[in-house]
Amino acid sequence: MAAIGVGCQQYQTQESPLVVGNFVLPPEFCYVDAEAPEVRADLKYAGRDNFVGRPIAGYEGSRAILRRDAARALHRVSQRLAEHGYGLLIWDAYRPLRALRDFHAWSLTADDSTRATFYPRLTKRGIYEGKYIGDASEHTWGIAVDLTLVHLSDGSPVDMGGRHDLLDPSSATESPEVSEKARTNRRLLRDAMRAEGFENYAKEWWHYRLAQSRPWFAYDFPVRDDLRVH
Ligand SMILES: [Zn+2]
Repeated sequence: MAAIGVGCQQYQTQESPLVVGNFVLPPEFCYVDAEAPEVRADLKYAGRDNFVGRPIAGYEGSRAILRRDAARALHRVSQRLAEHGYGLLIWDAYRPLRALRDFHAWSLTADDSTRATFYPRLTKRGIYEGKYIGDASEHTWGIAVDLTLVHLSDGSPVDMGGRHDLLDPSSATESPEVSEKARTNRRLLRDAMRAEGFENYAKEWWHYRLAQSRPWFAYDFPVRDDLRVH
């Protein structure tokens, strides 16, 4: 590859890696498994089990990525939950900006094939108007995470009264449409997350952001398992 000017150096974590194949994890980020190895991950946007129905742009790996402070806080949350016999399973964490563009492009298509599973009571336009998806996301800052509880004994899912990205009123954390047991489990997750500084999005029981952290900067490096770590 031809030499790259020194002047490009400052863009290494944003554009250059995509051009030269030099993938770098920004220093303020980490793989969640580096700080919280006990936390499991099943990145829904890397596969087909999501509201678009196919892998999303920018998801090329299986390891969750977050800002380091968020990953460390998550480790403390999982320690709290372990006392109750529960563990954490991440469905999405850091999300590249290009994924939001991919969502938007999908929203303009006629494809409605995932509606029954993911947004049975909404139109595609309603997903945006209902603020389930937006053209900006805390996930691109690396401080937001979608996650659920699993039983530590066998890794099986805990009943939370619905699945990830069920874009529906029943996914509101306090929704009366789900069973008391599911609501109790949602509250258990919320209480443990709150205790370590995470804030829940009331419309989505699975979405949390680290409340103290406001970098206001959207990143766009891809989610890959082989990013170079500083
Ligand atoms: Zn989320």
